[in-house]
Amino acid sequence: MIARLDETHDPSLRSWVPSADDHPDFPIQNLPFGIFTPPSGGGRRGGVAIGDAVLDLAAVVELGLLGREGAEAAAATDTGTLNAFLALGPSARRALRAELSALLRAGAPERTFVAGCLHDAAACLLHLPAAIGDYTDFYAGIHHAENVGRQFRPDNPLLPNYKHLPIGYHGRASSVRPSGEPVRRPNGQRKPASETEPSFGPSRNLDLELELGIWIGPGNPQGEPVPIAAAADRIAGFCLLNDWSARDIQGWEYQPLGPFLAKSFATTISPWIVTPEAMAPFRLALPPRPAGDPAPMPYLDDPADREAGALDLALFVDLVTPGLVAQGLPPHRLAASNARHLYWSVAQMVAHHTVGGCNLRPGDLLGTGTISAPEPSGYGSLLEITNGGRQPVALASGEERRFLQDGDEIVLTARASRPGAATIGFGPCRATILPAPV
Ligand code: CA
Repeated sequence: MIARLDETHDPSLRSWVPSADDHPDFPIQNLPFGIFTPPSGGGRRGGVAIGDAVLDLAAVVELGLLGREGAEAAAATDTGTLNAFLALGPSARRALRAELSALLRAGAPERTFVAGCLHDAAACLLHLPAAIGDYTDFYAGIHHAENVGRQFRPDNPLLPNYKHLPIGYHGRASSVRPSGEPVRRPNGQRKPASETEPSFGPSRNLDLELELGIWIGPGNPQGEPVPIAAAADRIAGFCLLNDWSARDIQGWEYQPLGPFLAKSFATTISPWIVTPEAMAPFRLALPPRPAGDPAPMPYLDDPADREAGALDLALFVDLVTPGLVAQGLPPHRLAASNARHLYWSVAQMVAHHTVGGCNLRPGDLLGTGTISAPEPSGYGSLLEITNGGRQPVALASGEERRFLQDGDEIVLTARASRPGAATIGFGPCRATILPAPV
């Protein structure tokens, strides 16, 4: 079922962790899970972000303050990845969240003990939260699909299948990297329309894609689809995802089987898994389908998903260039969008992914597809923002960009807020472009 509100969401909750209250990303109402190496070194371990600190879950287990279910869940994070923890599912995750909320709130008598389990987040190294067995990228952002389709088919931007099923393809799991790791510009075959023969070299049209990532919790056996009504229990959380895209390589290679080297060189994600529980205050009804759109087939339709299957999550793309940095100028905001603009819900993606019998496994990662807003200020890729490179973006530094240059950094951020709830964020999803290998 879709997560319900409980006392862990109370906006008046305060934490004894000094930096937590009103923290833009990680107040006590969020409590996302991740994998980190503490400042003192040692192995990778499970942690929870609280304010500017990371709570060491193995250390909390050693204190003996957790109940049985919470302790089992916390112990499952101490294997170097969160896969075993994700596999436990919503009940164990909620039990641990409730116990951590109680231990971290202002006035908790255990404070003096738990304070010893905190590390300065800025001194910790954050890793991928799970060993990602498979990564699938959808195409559920309808405004992106229309904007891109219009560049090729002005009169008929959406292909006939778009409103009947969540389009997707199987991406590359091995090159998913955590925020902060640089991305090397890919070499590949390019053949713009202006050239008669393909050439080999660095991508000239390197782009970003603003996406939401979805972490799979308990999997499904092969041949046993996940009904849409059960899909919410298979989703362990969310992250930001930048699906780096080499548009010139993509344009030459993608027919007839879809993206390959244009996408597989790198995908960057934010390292914290923001749980469905943390996002519970920010659920929305699915937007009504415009008149004339087909109704979803029964396997993609669920009353609870209709009522609360969308996420009200503001999404931002900022560009940092060497010129902006040199002149002490702030990052350039490329886009402000929102996850509620998706045409297909995350539950519909899980139901569709498995309906043919495909097995999802704990730690699998889904991308939603680029989430563009209807208006140009919310376009989630440079392909859309610059109209295929034809209309460059002018920066305050005097620079301009059609696509990304070496040394540029893209920073994705997210913010969930509404009256009556504590505002939460995801932490950054950032990476800088390095020159292509010579
Ligand atoms: Ca994509």
